[in-house]
Amino acid sequence: MTDESNKPDVLVAGAGIVGIASALWAQRRGLTVTIADENAPGSGTSYGNAGAIATYGCVPVNSPSLIREMPKLLTTKSAPLRIDWLYAARNLPWMFAFLRNCTPARVDHITRALAELLSRTDAGLDPLIEAAGAQDLFVANDFIYAWESEKTRNNSETSLAARRRHGVSMTMLTGAEIAELEPGVTMSFHSGVRFEGGRHVRDPQALTTRLFDRFIADGGTYVSANVRSLTPTDDGIKADLSNGEKIDAGKVVIAAGAHSRSIKGSGAEDLPLGVERGYHVMFADHAHRVTRPVAWAEGAFYATPMDGGLRLAGTVELDSLDAPPNPARTEALTTRAHTMFGEEIGQPTSTWLGFRPTMPDSLPVIGPSHRSDRILFAFGHQHLGLTLGSITGRIIADLAEGRVPNFDISAYAAGRFGKIRR
Ligand SMILES: Cc1cc2nc3c(=O)[nH]c(=O)nc-3n(C[C@H](O)[C@H](O)[C@H](O)COP(=O)(O)OP(=O)(O)OC[C@H]3O[C@@H](n4cnc5c(N)ncnc54)[C@H](O)[C@@H]3O)c2cc1C
Repeated sequence: MTDESNKPDVLVAGAGIVGIASALWAQRRGLTVTIADENAPGSGTSYGNAGAIATYGCVPVNSPSLIREMPKLLTTKSAPLRIDWLYAARNLPWMFAFLRNCTPARVDHITRALAELLSRTDAGLDPLIEAAGAQDLFVANDFIYAWESEKTRNNSETSLAARRRHGVSMTMLTGAEIAELEPGVTMSFHSGVRFEGGRHVRDPQALTTRLFDRFIADGGTYVSANVRSLTPTDDGIKADLSNGEKIDAGKVVIAAGAHSRSIKGSGAEDLPLGVERGYHVMFADHAHRVTRPVAWAEGAFYATPMDGGLRLAGTVELDSLDAPPNPARTEALTTRAHTMFGEEIGQPTSTWLGFRPTMPDSLPVIGPSHRSDRILFAFGHQHLGLTLGSITGRIIADLAEGRVPNFDISAYAAGRFGKIRR
């Protein structure tokens, strides 16, 4: 192939929020960029999330209390966590590595590393919002995180203290104050916390599409095919695509979310990338029920007012990427929706399953591959990819240009997993 679009400075594998933000940032630094993805831009996990720019989200799912609570979580039918035991048996190294990251010292390290990245959210996101003219998709708002019981409220003291230590601005709320702030919530909560200074996205897919349209309008190239494998050459990386095309790129960014391990020769296949499946249910005519994202802590979901209606998004299911959607999970979310808003909201108008890409330490992998400095990893953003996609893109653009990012990114390096199996 001789055409210039087949010799980009950067090829990005994956058109989710992380890949598109990386492509747009690299393009704005003057690099020629191609994105490859056989699915429509923004149609993966970046489509159906809760829309929260969750800058308060430095506390990982890993926690010492998770181990204590595990038996109850696994035996309660409506619990927000479900594990498929066959999947768990096939992925024991990931499960054990996840549990090893639940000690207080590890949680402290992870919290600090996430807080570092989260504190740069605006520096990654705001220039892209401005470039894409996407201001209208954001609503500046506080978030409410509400507890049903005093016991879970008290169990959250450690994580609240960690957030406070890392500068999260918050106010505690009584149940009555929640009812006053959000009269559309018919359930009585025991108490809650208001995370201040947040914003949410009214339509996450519209955001990725808007960023993608800017990328194309500014001369970016999109190929509707997946990247199958990579081979280093003398001056770059050769990518084999699922449509038979080959692209010689200066650098390749692996931003295929939970699917990143499928790209052979990239080195991602050597890393312990897992998947936390999550669901949403939509109630088309009920966005007015809340004025801001409201989380039910025990249910592990957010109810967010969106352009398409009221979206309840969250929960965790440990099962494989190719297992079919589990109707019991969306039924449980629907039951919670009825408890929270009353049965008159009816049945969901649509349901969705997405795949959070999660490393056992809940930190993303950002930086060069151990296979080649020309392959850059940008995946593993777990519950925070919408929030962290843009700052990740900015770091990736630095690395693609050969610049050193303006803060220490070693906590996100692939090398933290020690001796990597090849
Ligand atoms: C229920 C739920 C609620 C959430 N709520 C929030 C929230 O409120 N705030 C927040 O910050 N985050 C949230 N998240 C997390 C967030 O959605 C994800 O972290 C984020 O979307 C991951 O983005 P991504 O670009 O890495 O992956 P994706 O959006 O999945 O994109 C990956 C892309 O790679 C493509 N691909 C796959 N294989 C290949 C290949 N071989 N070659 C090329 N392309 C390939 C796929 O087609 C896909 O388009 C939530 C997640 C879930 C499931």
